[in-house]
Amino acid sequence: MKYQVNQAGFYGDFGGAFIPPTLQPIVAELQAMYIEIMEEPTFQAEYQKLLADYVGRPTPLYFAERLSALYNTKVYLKREDLCHTGAHKINNTIGQVLLAKRLGKKKIIAETGAGQHGVATATVCALAGLECVVFMGATDIERQAPNVARMKMLGAEVRAAKTGTQTLKEAVDEALLYWIENPTDTYYLIGSVVGPHPYPDMVGRFQSVISKEIKQQLLEKEGVDKPNYVIASVGGGSNATGAFYEFLEEESVKLIVAEGGGFGVDTNQTAATSFIGKPGVLHGSKTLFMQDETGEPLEAYSISAGLDYPGFGPLFALMKQEDRAEFFAIKDAEAMEAGLALCKLEGIIPAIESSHALAALQHKTFLPTDIVVVNLSGRGDKDLQNYTNYFQL
Ligand SMILES: *Cc1c(COP(=O)(O)O)cnc(C)c1O
Repeated sequence: MKYQVNQAGFYGDFGGAFIPPTLQPIVAELQAMYIEIMEEPTFQAEYQKLLADYVGRPTPLYFAERLSALYNTKVYLKREDLCHTGAHKINNTIGQVLLAKRLGKKKIIAETGAGQHGVATATVCALAGLECVVFMGATDIERQAPNVARMKMLGAEVRAAKTGTQTLKEAVDEALLYWIENPTDTYYLIGSVVGPHPYPDMVGRFQSVISKEIKQQLLEKEGVDKPNYVIASVGGGSNATGAFYEFLEEESVKLIVAEGGGFGVDTNQTAATSFIGKPGVLHGSKTLFMQDETGEPLEAYSISAGLDYPGFGPLFALMKQEDRAEFFAIKDAEAMEAGLALCKLEGIIPAIESSHALAALQHKTFLPTDIVVVNLSGRGDKDLQNYTNYFQL
């Protein structure tokens, strides 16, 4: 299984757990326990029940007729936008909060940039009755007021990171610092397939429900359990891992990654890791990330807050190296147009992250018989201001 993590926590050359010594025992405990806990029948029963009754799964696999006509192929949208809280992130946060409870943890910490992961974490902490502290850059707190309000309504404490650029990187630093100081009673809930082993694999497993459903739903609708293409946007890579998971070892299924291209890979305003990233250690694992000559992470830029991360998870570094997926750097303008087009063609307002995946459709030529699944990772309510400003509506 080439695209599964190995015993040591690596995907080929990438991954691992590069962490300070104080965190090693706590991460080692997680490494030793996570699969056992996740596979316990009582855990699975509780997780599956919440996915059904709380999140609203299975999410529909919707045949987009007018979008299909435009591209002269068969386009299906996997409707993660219909999940409770508006995106796929909750598949993972529910799983991890149940796991944290089984490990006897009392407090959950998380970092957030735009606030989406913070909201998903605050939501499940309320559900589980656990204390929640979300670290967020002071600049982001100002820029993302609605999500800050949501987290507060849900009972979370939002702590401002006031160093450096006061954004996601500093929020991660503060969360790690807090974890180092309170390692035993605190669980660090990471929001994507990034960070030290076992997080990339654990988050991928929680998100794999997306492709498990796609298989089942395609069998019902098309009589086959494999699409020709799966397309997903990648910030850290969690929705893409979920959508690709069941197909990673199936070479007949072509995988397409849409990264935040920003103003273009030849400008310094981009988040297209696969084009300009170099190998190195970011947030506890070896992967590709955008860095300066000294190896410091560069600030990423994308119009989409969920995609402006300077790296991606180690699985994507391997997929890039092995040409397992085709990577496209989708420019802001292309994504925004593709998002507006979906509104007009299908009556669905997508998250700007998801609009990047939709824009990738234009970069390929499909056969009329091809089955193309686009993972619609989230809904666009959070992005309305951004869309209306952009289009001057
Ligand atoms: C957070 C987010 C993303 C990007 O994160 P991944 O871990 O790459 O999935 C994409 N889409 C939406 C709607 C998001 O909220």
